[in-house]
Amino acid sequence: MKPPKFRYVAPRSLDDAVELLASDPDAKVLSGGQSLMPLLAMRLAAPSILVDLQHVSGLDDIEDHGTSLLIGARVTHREIERSTLVAERLPILSAAVVHIAHPQIRSRGTLGGSTAHADPSGEWPTILLALGATMHTVSPRGRRTIEADDFFVGPFTSTLAEDEILTHVSVSTTRTAWSFQEAAVKKGDYGLALVAATGTPRDGVLLDPRVTVGAAVGSVRRVVEVERLLAGTPLTAALANEAAVTAAASIDPISDIHGNSEYRRKLVAALVRRAVTELTNGA
Ligand SMILES: Cc1cc2nc3c(=O)[nH]c(=O)nc-3n(C[C@H](O)[C@H](O)[C@H](O)COP(=O)(O)OP(=O)(O)OC[C@H]3O[C@@H](n4cnc5c(N)ncnc54)[C@H](O)[C@@H]3O)c2cc1C
Repeated sequence: MKPPKFRYVAPRSLDDAVELLASDPDAKVLSGGQSLMPLLAMRLAAPSILVDLQHVSGLDDIEDHGTSLLIGARVTHREIERSTLVAERLPILSAAVVHIAHPQIRSRGTLGGSTAHADPSGEWPTILLALGATMHTVSPRGRRTIEADDFFVGPFTSTLAEDEILTHVSVSTTRTAWSFQEAAVKKGDYGLALVAATGTPRDGVLLDPRVTVGAAVGSVRRVVEVERLLAGTPLTAALANEAAVTAAASIDPISDIHGNSEYRRKLVAALVRRAVTELTNGA
């Protein structure tokens, strides 16, 4: 199928992009197009105007801010994959990015597009929630920040307003204990289950753990029951087993043609066990 008719604009400044997006309630941002273009081709989206961000300056850098990295919304998955700064300071992103589709898609798709799209099977939503990232946005009402806990609110739903542009994501680099686990039918496929776990290790225990699940559930979410179990408790193999049982009991997995909910529950339990074991080895 062909996309419905739309007007295409490619502003050079963020101010112009904000103005164009606000000019029509059916206008939409275009970033890498790797999710939006298939939706247009299938006529599942029919925007009046596409506001392409590719020429807007200031959205495509990865900046070191000491205890955090500030990543522009237009930074592609591939740029994250190739970044030595990311590999040194946020290795969980480097470990996860290779699970996103294939190199061609990673060359076009962006961190901002993926985050705004809020796909429950997306690696970035699962990981940004586990890292407690902060989203930076701009709209005609000005700039604001949204914590990851308040950003992902449902399947393909975030708290971004229709006229709001995600400009950057800032991610703390102080959560040095981390694990990312994914189960997929084959490399490059969307995962059947994703688990991310992070925290700050101190004297064999984990401070402020965050554990998230994606793909197996309808909306990316934290598993606070597992976080409570891990917080301040010496990390052991027995704890990894207990965390797996707790995760399985705490989630309400989806069923689809790739696997029913009981299969996904078992996958999540296995991935949580692996994640906590990795945290144990790294603490
Ligand atoms: C075959 C295939 C396989 C894929 N596999 C995976 C996978 O395994 N894992 C995964 O995570 N993803 C996967 N993707 C999706 C890919 O990662 C996309 O890059 C990503 O979902 C969207 O990023 P984008 O830059 O292409 O955004 P776009 O497609 O341009 O936009 C997506 C949505 O976000 C909005 N948007 C984009 N940027 C902004 C912004 N800055 N501010 C506000 N709104 C914005 C758009 O209006 C649109 O609604 C796959 C895609 C394809 C085609």
